[in-house]
Amino acid sequence: MSSARTRGLWIDGQVTDAAEGGTFPTFNPATGQPICEVARADAADVERAVEAAGRAGEHWRARSGTERGRILHRAAELMRTHRDELAELEALDGGKPIAETPEADVDSGADCLEYFAGQAASLQGEYQPLDGGFFYTRPEPLGVCAGIGAWNYPLQIACWKTAPALAAGNTMIFKPAELTPLSALRLAELFREAGLPDGVFNVVNGEAETGQALTRHPGIAKVSLTGEAGTGKKIMKDAADTLKTVTLELGGKSPLIIFDDADLDNAVSGALLGNFYTQGEICTNGTRVFVHESIHDDFMERLVQRTRRLKIGDPLDPDTDVGALISQGHLEHVLGYIEKGRAEGARLVFGGERAPVNGCEGGAFVQPTIFTDCTDDMTIVREEIFGPVMSVLRFRDEAEVLERANDTDYGLASGVFTSDLTRAHRMADNLEAGICWINHYNITPIEMPFGGVKQSGLGKENSRRALEFYTRLKSVFVATSDVEAPY
Ligand code: NDP
Repeated sequence: MSSARTRGLWIDGQVTDAAEGGTFPTFNPATGQPICEVARADAADVERAVEAAGRAGEHWRARSGTERGRILHRAAELMRTHRDELAELEALDGGKPIAETPEADVDSGADCLEYFAGQAASLQGEYQPLDGGFFYTRPEPLGVCAGIGAWNYPLQIACWKTAPALAAGNTMIFKPAELTPLSALRLAELFREAGLPDGVFNVVNGEAETGQALTRHPGIAKVSLTGEAGTGKKIMKDAADTLKTVTLELGGKSPLIIFDDADLDNAVSGALLGNFYTQGEICTNGTRVFVHESIHDDFMERLVQRTRRLKIGDPLDPDTDVGALISQGHLEHVLGYIEKGRAEGARLVFGGERAPVNGCEGGAFVQPTIFTDCTDDMTIVREEIFGPVMSVLRFRDEAEVLERANDTDYGLASGVFTSDLTRAHRMADNLEAGICWINHYNITPIEMPFGGVKQSGLGKENSRRALEFYTRLKSVFVATSDVEAPY
């Protein structure tokens, strides 16, 4: 059995070692120190998880939606009871400020369980009378689903994938990102305490190979990934052999457009939220900030003034606004982009350096960084950085900014700050993105569909729409008259 310093896998309602006994360390990004060892699942463990999830599914899908919802509801309550502990775990394993995690990670995960607890009872088909009979449709669960998570919102991602899957009668095997393996294991314990039957939720930690074993497994009906666009393509190819359905929540390089009639303080708040929250490690971030040329200087002055106030520090310190990047490797990656920004002629107006933090000497800290006078062809403007690096670009008119905003392979999110409502809706109509925030940025209420277009993904999470991606529709025709056969 796993020791106190080693966290096991969670299969069939039990903690278990990996079949081959493999483990890997997980680190605190703020110090670089290992937190503990974690069992690494290989193909044999994935096999065990698929068997357990398959068995559990036979009973789970037979329960009423109300019953399934009741358990999800209890799990949400338990998340709220353990809010502080879960928030600390997310901060410890992910480097995220403790000022953010109670709300952004724990509450949003619990909201999701609660929302789909309510939806579970309302899954309905259609009915239509026809000549000689009628038909009805049955939304049925897909079976065993796999969720594969990114490291930036580990608990939230686990909830966003698991809640709709379970509400619809599926079972779930979740693979967290290797860099943040801990919170999904704690979620599994809370699910059990809430009364979730063994095997309905399983956690197999590991690396890309573990994800691949899930994606290729013929016993799995669906894969939902949150990760990079390149990973999404690999998963789609791997899933093709067994014709699995996929939901892909991928990267982005989203535009945030600030018109000259915008409320400037709100616009600055949007730009800060859309670039520096969670150290900029958010897929929907509005990292291309287009500012109307007539307000550029005023905007920059207010932006820099407020950015200066952000406190970079130990994620566990409640006063910290900007925590640690996920790893030293990622820090190098982000610093590399900052260097490219300088080399390609963008004007650095704030940050741009590593940020030493007392007591966290081995941590991966970087200053919130702002470039202006950026041009559309610069590397920092074209590629997803996934760190606190904002690129400001000037624009002159609506048609021009729209064309430039859409000139990207990605299409996850977008934002528009303006007091002209007609223009706001016109922009929402024409922006090529799965989400458009008008006079706000980066809020993701559970009731609102979430997901990208173009290279940012396929399918939707959250809202009632998510259930469509965890069910398949069976059409049932019922004859009410004799069969007329010409033979
Ligand atoms: P990755 O794509 O590197 O990894 C995502 C997950 O996929 C990890 O669990 C990873 O395992 C696993 N994985 C990697 N390769 C394979 C494979 N071939 N088959 C199956 N699974 C695989 O993304 P990151 O974790 O680095 O997260 C950052 C990215 O996620 C950014 O691009 C960001 O934009 C995107 N993202 C998108 C969101 C959205 O909702 N649209 C939200 C949050 C992030 P392991 O890590 O263990 O190698």
